[in-house]
Amino acid sequence: MKIIDLHCDALMKLADGKGSLSYADSKELDTNKARLQKGETFVQCFAIFIDLDIKSDQKFQAALDQIYYFKNEVLGKNHEMKQITKWEDFDQLKENEIGAMLTLEGVDAIGNDIQKYSILHELGVLSVGLTWNNANLAADGAGEPRGAGLTSFGKELVQFNNQHKILTDVSHLCEKAFWDVMEIAKYPIASHSNSKVLCNHVRNLTDQQARAMFDKGGLIHVVFNPPFINESGQASISDLIKHMDHFCSLGGVEQIGFGSDFDGISTKISKLENSSMYQNLINELLKYYSEEQVQGFAYQNFLNHRPE
Ligand SMILES: [Zn+2]
Repeated sequence: MKIIDLHCDALMKLADGKGSLSYADSKELDTNKARLQKGETFVQCFAIFIDLDIKSDQKFQAALDQIYYFKNEVLGKNHEMKQITKWEDFDQLKENEIGAMLTLEGVDAIGNDIQKYSILHELGVLSVGLTWNNANLAADGAGEPRGAGLTSFGKELVQFNNQHKILTDVSHLCEKAFWDVMEIAKYPIASHSNSKVLCNHVRNLTDQQARAMFDKGGLIHVVFNPPFINESGQASISDLIKHMDHFCSLGGVEQIGFGSDFDGISTKISKLENSSMYQNLINELLKYYSEEQVQGFAYQNFLNHRPE
């Protein structure tokens, strides 16, 4: 069954490798092409994430470096990989092609410069989380003790997203910023978050947040990072499915999906350790849900709720 995965960090690894990693089949990459093919991935999102240690005036260059590896290594050397640059592109992929979509995880790289934001969008960024866990000029992330909401600049970016049909991703925001986004975003989404009721972690969503997302027509894509699944830090496929069950109980059966976080996580769910193992999750889900529901989780829910 084909898969849409909303989050991986392969570009960070490719850029850190400075050309030493081959996207086609490097073992170091959980989401290399061979693994996507084996796991039946239909579209993989690739996050641009800039390490916090990089100095502010070098962050935009670091974002461009990651886009360089996306264009030249991921796409340039693998003819099956096709960049998604607009929402209709999902419908144009051929049988043997895999869609590749750029996303931005934290807007630190643009400083306060909306022109840089516009350039990243022109290069193909279609989904943006305003923060990672830290605070920046747009908002506070989930790990920032201050916990403040959107700045005026952050609101300007959400308006830009609304105008350009860019998803506004709430996954790393602090709660106050989450509610600010929900008030103004036309296309909110949580690309890689689980339920806080089942695992009390700052990166997870409360039931109130999850319901608000479903009420607004947004999606929640569950994340495969064990510390976001169980407080013990270890997790099985069944444990991950409990988060999906819980979101379904809140009305999300047609609004949930997957955002693995492969290549960004250091511990793994057993039997779901990289993209090649995706069908293990699908086969387990088919024991509890109808084929149509599982197709929804795997790709159709996202297709149904993408901007028109
Ligand atoms: Zn993340």
